[in-house]
Amino acid sequence: VAGVDLGGTNLAVALFDEEHRIVDRARLPTPTAGPDAVVEAIAEAVGGLRAAPDAVGVGAPGPVNDGIVKTTPNLRGWTGPVPLAALVAERLGCAAVVDNDANVGAVGEWVAGAGRGSRFLLGVWLGTGVGGGLVLDGKPYRGAFGGAGEFGHMCVHLGGALCGCGRRGCVEAYAGRASMERTVAMAVAAGRETELETVRAATGKARYTSAVLSKALKRDDPLATGVLDEAVAALGAAVGAAVNLLDLDRIVVGGGLAEKLGDSLVARIATATRPYLLVPDVERPMVLAELGDDAGVVGAAALARSLLANSGPG
Ligand SMILES: [Zn+2]
Repeated sequence: VAGVDLGGTNLAVALFDEEHRIVDRARLPTPTAGPDAVVEAIAEAVGGLRAAPDAVGVGAPGPVNDGIVKTTPNLRGWTGPVPLAALVAERLGCAAVVDNDANVGAVGEWVAGAGRGSRFLLGVWLGTGVGGGLVLDGKPYRGAFGGAGEFGHMCVHLGGALCGCGRRGCVEAYAGRASMERTVAMAVAAGRETELETVRAATGKARYTSAVLSKALKRDDPLATGVLDEAVAALGAAVGAAVNLLDLDRIVVGGGLAEKLGDSLVARIATATRPYLLVPDVERPMVLAELGDDAGVVGAAALARSLLANSGPG
């Protein structure tokens, strides 16, 4: 089986053996000319692998239902719903499955990363936005219309900060890097002195990246500390609500910010979660993701494998 991680910038492909180990991989820039060009690029990347897979799984940005990718701002030239699973299956002549990248990442961590052995798992991805993916009762969970797991848009503050989705008070409006950067940029524009700006200028970065935030935190910068405190508080409230609703047995935290700040961030979110838990005396580990960028291809390939298992031999 092969897994495809379709990102806005790059497209990563990996071929897996029977033990679900990566035996070959490829990476190329994501074409910007629309869905047909992307399908062609997937075919080219998969065709260049050392063996032809029996099934291909794809993790795509944006909402996915039944193999159809809805409008996604992260893929240029995608203006309407695209039946990506059918297009990939037809072009490659093999079985294909497509799911949202946050769901796929959670599946990756569940089968081969920090989520191994869990039956009720929430994956939380801290990147430009805040993503989520669920495994419930030992199965990837997509909900009635493919929209489950939108952890980033759980409301943690009625009438609160404006989110990239246009709503107010979402956890992403406090814990997404884009939102955190906006808060910092506004403070800097208002004349606030901060190590965030000093570090950003010194490292030649155009934005307040996770690396910039990490350095400013080490220097005890009050603005950086305040922004992260707010993010941690929002994440704690949202994870608490998710646990109370779903009775999860593990939470895996990954994404660029989590990779940069590591276990100490995870420990802080766990502490911020506790006051919200109705049943706090149960062991529900919150752990750092293990697979890094590979979570996408690993999860996508696992979905491809389950497709083969479901359709039976041959
Ligand atoms: Zn939102």
